[in-house]
Amino acid sequence: MAKVSYYMPAHPSNRALVANRPLLGFVLHDIEGPAASAISWFGQDHGARGPSSAHLVFGAHGMVSLVVPIDEVAFHTIGGLWEPDWMHGIAPQGNWSVVNECTIGLEMEGYSPGPYPDVMLAKVAEFILDLSRAYGIPLGLDRLLYHSELQGDRKDPEPRGRTTVKRRVWEVMQRIMELEVEVANLNGVVKDALRQKDFANGLKREMEHAARQRGLTQAEIDAFIVKVSKEVGVS
Ligand SMILES: [Zn+2]
Repeated sequence: MAKVSYYMPAHPSNRALVANRPLLGFVLHDIEGPAASAISWFGQDHGARGPSSAHLVFGAHGMVSLVVPIDEVAFHTIGGLWEPDWMHGIAPQGNWSVVNECTIGLEMEGYSPGPYPDVMLAKVAEFILDLSRAYGIPLGLDRLLYHSELQGDRKDPEPRGRTTVKRRVWEVMQRIMELEVEVANLNGVVKDALRQKDFANGLKREMEHAARQRGLTQAEIDAFIVKVSKEVGVS
């Protein structure tokens, strides 16, 4: 599981504890500023301006801060412009949007429309992959949303119609999955080799035992093992 660098809890007014909120996708944002400004802002009571927060804040150099625990609601998107099919029929359990009810909000350091550093996007990809697996969120490009797609007055992390950020994140996720398959295959090859080695060692011990029972000297036993090993293709 990808690890957070810091836990920088949002002010209680910027988060809501609910029972079993459905987790179905991710919303990507940018801060329009540095990571520290978002963490500081989410730590304050916003009073009449209303709550705002996100679950995770990503720094340009790959640092990740958990701001709102994943099973709590964060206030990162009002929505109102569009919603994907998989969000239909979800009923918020409190006074917040359906988007906030069922997504994980990710804030990235920087300004729309980027470019955003590879090290940060790779970290975002790693967390999305791990969180998807941990919470049973389907893996797919369609589960990565932009704030700008959901809410008309926003342009983060890049304007509607652009897909550079989500495609780069999705590519890294796919590459991680490919590498996982390669590592699993290599593990299989190593395990097979070890099994063959165990089998060969067992066979040698049996041959040695049989030769000794026939009263052969150690030199004769060694020669016998070499001869039989060659015949059965064990070395
Ligand atoms: Zn946003």
